[in-house]
Amino acid sequence: MDTEQIREKLNAQREELLERVDRTSKHLYQRDKPVSPNFAEQSVEMENQELMYTLDREGKEEIRKISKALARLDSGEYGLCVNCGEDISEQRLEVLPYTDVCIDCAE
Ligand SMILES: [Zn+2]
Repeated sequence: MDTEQIREKLNAQREELLERVDRTSKHLYQRDKPVSPNFAEQSVEMENQELMYTLDREGKEEIRKISKALARLDSGEYGLCVNCGEDISEQRLEVLPYTDVCIDCAE
C-alpha cells in the first residue's frame, strides 16, 4: 500500500471540500438579498437553502473523516478496521480512502 499516494489523495480531497464548504457557507450565511415577495420564488429559495445546508453538513462531515484518516496515516493505524482490527481491503480504500471500517463491519 502506497501511503504517500493516499496522503496526497486525501489532502487534495480535503482542499477541494474546504473550498466547497467555504463557498456554500458564504452562500448560506452572507446572503444580502432580500427574501423574494413572490411565493413560488420563495419556496424555490427555501429548497435551495435546504440543499445548501445538506451540502454544508455533509462536506464538513467528510472533512472530519479525512482529517481522521490523515491522523491514522501518521500513527500507522491507517488501513486497519477500528471495529475488528482486520485489514481493510485495498479496493475498498481505493474507493473510500477515508474509511476506518472494513467491508464486513460497514454492513
Ligand atoms: Zn472490521
